[in-house]
Amino acid sequence: SAKPSQNFDLIVVGGGPAGATVSAAVALHGHRVLLVEKETFPRYQIGESLLPSTVHGVCRILGVEDALADAGFKPKRGGTFRWGRNRDPWQFSFALSPRLADPTSFAYQVERSRFDAILLDNARRVGVDVREGCRVTGVLADEERVRGVRWTGPNGEIHQAAARYVVDASGNGSRIHTHVGGKRIHSDFFRNIAVFGYFAGGARLPAPNDGNVFCAAFDEGWIWYIPLRDDLTSVGAVVAREHAEAVQGDPATAWRRLIDACPEVRGFLDGVPQATQAPYDKVRVRKDWSYWKSQLWRPGMALVGDAACFVDPVLSSGVHLATYGGLLAARSVNGCLDGGGLDETRLFAEFEARYRHEYGLFHEFLVSFYDMHQDERSYFWKARKVTNVGTTELEAFVELVGGLASGDASLTGAEPAGERLTAVADDFERAVRRLPEADDLRNPLYESESFRQVFQEGTVLQERGLFGGPLETESPLRPGGLVASEDGLAWVEP
Ligand code: FAD
Repeated sequence: SAKPSQNFDLIVVGGGPAGATVSAAVALHGHRVLLVEKETFPRYQIGESLLPSTVHGVCRILGVEDALADAGFKPKRGGTFRWGRNRDPWQFSFALSPRLADPTSFAYQVERSRFDAILLDNARRVGVDVREGCRVTGVLADEERVRGVRWTGPNGEIHQAAARYVVDASGNGSRIHTHVGGKRIHSDFFRNIAVFGYFAGGARLPAPNDGNVFCAAFDEGWIWYIPLRDDLTSVGAVVAREHAEAVQGDPATAWRRLIDACPEVRGFLDGVPQATQAPYDKVRVRKDWSYWKSQLWRPGMALVGDAACFVDPVLSSGVHLATYGGLLAARSVNGCLDGGGLDETRLFAEFEARYRHEYGLFHEFLVSFYDMHQDERSYFWKARKVTNVGTTELEAFVELVGGLASGDASLTGAEPAGERLTAVADDFERAVRRLPEADDLRNPLYESESFRQVFQEGTVLQERGLFGGPLETESPLRPGGLVASEDGLAWVEP
């Protein structure tokens, strides 16, 4: 039988980047937060390449930026790509806008076991009651709202806890996300499979780009090459779902074969042994990662991070969406709990609109990014062209973002959306072609409006971290919308 009920302001399910962010951001406003995490940290997770908005935006707001700087992670100035019609590698750096001073124009390549533990320790430090080795097994709800969770302790003892709000941050394996908005909507376009593992070293790009993520497209898909430490490199191949049987049947062999099929990466790893220390001694497989939900909240409960949605590994948006989504949810929860008089529906509608908008921008951007690759002879690349975004998927997607992504008028029907995506892909391609050779400081971001647009919110977050607020007065996303408070932790009237 259940132990006596405990009471909290917020219960967070899952202690990854999304859960650690939302819990800390609500505890920072003095509210009582319980976080239930089924593993005991440090635990393994994939998703090692970060964006600057996480490091300098969210992490600074949470007060964990110094701990991160002390951890000795590999600084990442940007990305180097062998991608698109251009056969030569090109790169972009994170110097997002000439306005931003250099201190924020880098991110990190992180061992997630260590990164996630730093964020979770920070949550504990600011007052979150963190319970590791405990699993949430169910949601307590009535017709009106969600009111708490049922969870199991390390020795199998059953608890119940009540709260004003429950946030599901339990990742892609979430069992409780169905309590908000039913089933996940899966993307056909990003229906890929990844097989990944680690090498005990490997060549590095010439400085100062030695911390860049390197991505190379080849016939069957693309490969990531992430320098985590001098003696550790993360290498993963993303291929069409049609290869699932072969990949899942013998992941290690498939992984080696795909690395051999990509000349640059094969060259980088010539003579380098596979890593042998746990957790890096295994070759792992992931698939079915691209989905979203028709709803991201209901009274008493919200979804953030992979529990809510994920696009695709290319261009490292996962941890950004997880931590940004966590921050957005925290602003709504704080807005309600602080008692500033704003209506719950309005506060959570703001969370949902902003989260959909950001997801929508990345989704479109990544579709167009795949479209840049024009090799018509390759099954993988042919199948992943804009023209293969199915009408149902486009319609579902238009419904999701409600015309919010990339301007209203253009997103009114399936066809214009398809045309616009192709135009965006052409815009990238031209921007990349304009990059002067051997000048890594020039940046497709300066050359392409679409590139700039997708990193817009990230830039605002970075400015908030760096200057204590955005450089320009923040305007609401939509009429009647709210804006972030001065400390970045709640919503207020503009
Ligand atoms: P998670 O990190 O998955 O955390 C969820 C937590 O919830 C876990 O610790 C889990 O133990 C806990 N949990 C689950 N169920 C329960 C329960 N019932 N009770 C209690 N706790 C529970 N992102 C990037 O930013 N950069 C990359 O380079 C990148 N590469 C990727 C490559 C691949 C192949 C894939 C598939 C994804 C990649 N991602 C990348 C995405 C990234 O992995 C995720 O977006 C990110 O980990 C999401 O964080 P999260 O906090 O939402 O979930």
